[in-house]
This record gives sequence, structure tokens and C-alpha cells, in this order.
Amino acid sequence: MKPPSFDYLRASSLDEVWNALNRDDDVKVIAGGQSLVPLLSLRLASPSLLVDITQLKELMGISCDSNVLRIGALTRHTTVEKHPLIVAQAPLLAQAASWVAHPQIRNRGTLGGAVAHGDSAAEFPAALLALDATIIAWSRGGERRIPAPNFFEAYFTTALAHDELLAAVELPVGRAGATWGFEEFARRRGDYAIGGAAVYAERGGDGVCRAVRAGLLAAGPAPCLAPGLAESMVGRVVDAHLIDCAVAAALGQLTPGANVHGGSEYRRAVIGEMLRRALASAFELGEVA
Ligand SMILES: Cc1cc2nc3c(=O)[nH]c(=O)nc-3n(C[C@H](O)[C@H](O)[C@H](O)COP(=O)(O)OP(=O)(O)OC[C@H]3O[C@@H](n4cnc5c(N)ncnc54)[C@H](O)[C@@H]3O)c2cc1C
Repeated sequence: MKPPSFDYLRASSLDEVWNALNRDDDVKVIAGGQSLVPLLSLRLASPSLLVDITQLKELMGISCDSNVLRIGALTRHTTVEKHPLIVAQAPLLAQAASWVAHPQIRNRGTLGGAVAHGDSAAEFPAALLALDATIIAWSRGGERRIPAPNFFEAYFTTALAHDELLAAVELPVGRAGATWGFEEFARRRGDYAIGGAAVYAERGGDGVCRAVRAGLLAAGPAPCLAPGLAESMVGRVVDAHLIDCAVAAALGQLTPGANVHGGSEYRRAVIGEMLRRALASAFELGEVA
């Protein structure tokens, strides 16, 4: 199908973006276009003006200072997957990137676009929730720092206001005993997840869990954290039994909706198994398959 007609502006400054976004509610920014263009073609979106932000240097770059890794919104999925700083400091995010779609899409799609899109089946939101990320939003009025759990509000709905840009994400890094696991189930590699889990944890030398968070894929209308995980695991020596109990407690609080991929019970079982495997992998508890 063909998209409806729209005006197009390739912004060369942030001021141009603010002017356009404040014009009316019908204006949308476009980054990689890998979610927005299909929506236009299906006529699920019909903006009057598309503001192309891909030339804005302020939204680019990857840096690490004082145990905070900052990744610009325009960073392509492929770069997230391969950049040495991200691979070294946030391997969970790099691993999550490798599961997003196919190479052609990863070459064009941006981290900011994927996060702003707010799809509950997407890999980056789950990883950012697990990594305790802060989403940096800019508008003409200045900067807003939004903790990831407050950012994803509802079905394809985030805390970004219409006149805000997602500028970057920041992650705390370099914590002692940091470990991670990522598991996803999809019908084919590159498809959206039927279920999945991104786990970040901190483990003491004595095998005790010091911190744990898991972002879930396709577990509800919005990207979300596995409920109750820290209460089940922190302060305890982690073994397979503890993980089974923690997963069962989390699943008891989840009701994934039915969709073309299966009923709610099936999807809950898939998410539970992915969470179990990701936790076992993070805590190096041997064979997880
Ligand atoms: C066949 C196919 C398979 C895919 N499979 C997956 C998958 O398995 N997992 C997955 O996560 N994704 C998947 N995607 C989506 C892909 O990852 C997109 O690249 C990503 O969701 C959006 O990034 P983008 O830069 O292309 O954003 P765009 O498509 O340009 O924009 C998406 C939305 O975000 C807004 N936006 C973009 N950038 C900003 C910004 N900086 N600030 C504020 N708003 C912004 C736009 O207005 C729009 O509403 C798939 C896409 C296709 C076509």
C-alpha cells in the first residue's frame, strides 16, 4: 500500500524541530523509518508533516563517564550490537540488539526510534528496563530525565510529550558482580518475540544475589519488569530451585493477552520459560535449554 501524502522536512537544527513540533499535533518525527514507514503504508498513521531528525549531531554519539554509559538516540541498532564501549559496558544491550529484526532493518533503525515506539514485544525496552536506564527527553523547554519504568505507560504509549524528542539513554555501568542473560522465543529469528526476558543481576562472590531485574518481552500491553523478582531473590544464594520459585511468583502476577501467536496461558508459559533460562544463564547454572 502507499502512504498518504505528507510534507517532509529534513531538520538541520533542533530549533527547526521545535518549530515544527509546536506547529500542530499532526507532525511526527522520523528517524530510521523502520516502524513509522510501515505504519504510514498501512495508513495507521497520517501525519501532515514528517520531520527527519537523522542529521542532528546532538542526538548522536556514545560515551562513558563516571560509570554512566550514554547512547545517542540516533545510534543504529547495528552500532548498538557492535560498538566496543557498548559490548564491554552493557553486553545485555548489545545482545538484545542482535535479536532485533534482520540486518537490513538493524542498519537503519535507531535506538531512540525503537524506544519511542514503545512496542512491548521489542528487545530494547526490555533491556533498558533491566539495566535501570534513564531516558533523556529534550524539548524547547529543556531536558527531562525519565526512569525507564516510568517511560513505558501503555500500549504503544510512552511518557514522551508530543513536543519532546528522545535525545539519548543513559545506563549505570561498572557495578561489581554484574551479570546478565537474554532469551527470546520467536517463530523465526528476526520476527518479533512471542515471549522473552532480559535479565540484569549483581552477584556476590558467595553466590548471593545482590540485585536482579528482568525486562519482559510481549508480557503485556507495554514493556514491563518481571514483578517481585528482587523480593524473591535478593539476599539469597541462587540455585535452580530459587529461580523456579521466583519465576512462578512473577508469572502469578502476569496476564499476557491472547494474540495470533497463542492464548494467554501459552504465552505466559513461554515468558516463564524464557525468564527461567535468562536467570539461569545470568547465574551460570549450567544447561538452560
Ligand atoms: C520487518 C520488520 C521487523 C521488525 N522486527 C523487529 C523486532 O524483532 N524487534 C524490534 O524491536 N523492532 C523490530 N522492528 C522495528 C525496528 O526495530 C525499528 O527500527 C524501530 O522500532 C524504530 O526505529 P526507527 O529509528 O526506525 O524509528 P521510526 O520508524 O523512524 O520511528 C518510530 C516511532 O518513534 C518516533 N521517533 C523516532 N525517533 C524519535 C526520537 N528520537 N524522539 C522521539 N520520537 C522518535 C517516530 O515519530 C515514530 O513514532 C521491525 C521492523 C520491520 C520493518
